[in-house]
Amino acid sequence: MPATHSPFSGVVALDGPSGTGKSTVARRLAEQLQARYLDTGAMYRAATVAALRAGVDLSDGVAVTRVVEAAKIEISTDPQSVSITLDGEPVDTEIRSAETTAAVSAVSAVPAVRALLVDAQRELIGDGAIVVEGRDIGSVVWPGARPKVYLTATPEARARRRAGELGGDVDAVAADIARRDRLDSSRAASPLMQSTDAIELDTTDLGVDEVVARLVELASAAAS
Ligand code: C5P
Repeated sequence: MPATHSPFSGVVALDGPSGTGKSTVARRLAEQLQARYLDTGAMYRAATVAALRAGVDLSDGVAVTRVVEAAKIEISTDPQSVSITLDGEPVDTEIRSAETTAAVSAVSAVPAVRALLVDAQRELIGDGAIVVEGRDIGSVVWPGARPKVYLTATPEARARRRAGELGGDVDAVAADIARRDRLDSSRAASPLMQSTDAIELDTTDLGVDEVVARLVELASAAAS
C-alpha cells in the first residue's frame, strides 16, 4: 500500500530516560508527521525554575506546590519553534542549567505538582495530532496513545550523548544520569516505567534518522 501523506491525527507517546535521543527524535517525528510536539520534561523544568526562584525548600511538597500553582507556564507545541515561558518570560536556557537539572527530580516527585502538570498536558494534547515526550505519557498522561514507544539505550551510550549535547565530562554526566534515573524510577507518584503495552526501541546502535524512520513506520501503522 502506498504511504499515506495526510497529516497524523493521533497521539504518539515517546517515553524513556534521558540520553536516549528522545527530544531530537520526537521533534523530527512531529515535523515528518506534520503534527505538534510537546516536551513535558520542559514543563517540569519550568516548574523547577519557579521553585528555585521562589527559594522554597524543595523537600517541602506543600510549599513547592503553592509556587507551581501560582506559576504561569506556557509552552509552544510547534516542533519548529520550541519555546517555554514562565510568567511571560522565556526560560528556554534556564530550564537546561545544571542547577535546574539537579533540582528537577525533587520537584517532579511531588504528587500535587504532577497532578497540575498532567492536567495542563492533557489540555495541550486536546484533539491530538501531536507527539508527546516524557516519562509517563503512555502510562498516565495519555494511555490511549498509539503508538506508545519506550526508548532505551545503554548507560554508556546515554552518557556519551548527553555529554556531547551539554559538554562536560562523560563520567560526571553518567553519574548525574544514574542519580536522576534512580530518583525518577523510585518516586511514589508515576515513577518512570515502561507500560506493558509500549513498544521498546533500543537506540544504542541507531542513528537519529534510523530511529525517526522506525517511529514513522509505527505511527503510520497505528493510523491505518
Ligand atoms: O526529559 P527531561 O530530562 O527534560 O526531564 C527532566 C525531568 O523531568 C526528569 O528527570 C523527570 O524528573 C521529570 N519528568 C517527569 N515526567 C515527565 C517528564 C519529565 O517526571 N513526563
